[in-house]
This record gives sequence, structure tokens and C-alpha cells, in this order.
Amino acid sequence: MQSITNHINNKFKKYSGNATQYYLPITKQWYTCRRLKKILQQYNLTLQEYYDKYLLLDINESYCMCCKHKATFVSIGQGYRLTCSNSSCKQYAKQHATKQNWRNADFRQKQLLQLN
Ligand SMILES: [Zn+2]
Repeated sequence: MQSITNHINNKFKKYSGNATQYYLPITKQWYTCRRLKKILQQYNLTLQEYYDKYLLLDINESYCMCCKHKATFVSIGQGYRLTCSNSSCKQYAKQHATKQNWRNADFRQKQLLQLN
């Protein structure tokens, strides 16, 4: 049984020493988050765009579980919040979500279906 962390880990992300490194296919090199941000800027890309392209497991993860707008992007390590920045969406998430289903794609899908 894989842990959620292992599941998120993929060929574009690895842990070496105590730092997480990210692979950038454009340059064919591994970078720390800070370095990656600088390199991406040279290509007019953001960490969010990198995350969407290489690290996002499920498209639902990038949408607010409540209103289906784009969710708030936190960081390349943490990905997206469950909701957008709307305060009523945040309130809804507080009532219906726990830390355990933060990244649970099935949970998100279920929430979205309920809204349909
Ligand atoms: Zn929302």
C-alpha cells in the first residue's frame, strides 16, 4: 500500500538529501524549488504552470471543491488548496473536508458531482 506522499511523487519530483528536487524537461536538469522558479522565469513560466503540467495528478485537484473555479495555488510542494479564495467556499471546505482528503481526488470528484 503506497502512502499518499509516494503516490504524489513521480518522475518529475525526487527527494535527495533533505531537499526536494524537480525535473525540468526543457533543460533536462533537476532543480530545487528556488532554483526552478528562477529557471522557469527565463522561459516565462510560473511554478503553478510547472505544477499543472508535470505534477498535477488529477485535473480536479486544481479546481475549487465548492464552486469549480480555479483553486488557490499554494506552492509547488503543496499544490492547490481545496477551494478558491472565496470565503464561503473556504467555510464549506472547513465543514466538509479534513486534512486526510486534502489531496484525495475521489473526494473532490464526489464533491463536484454533488454540486451537479
Ligand atoms: Zn470556490
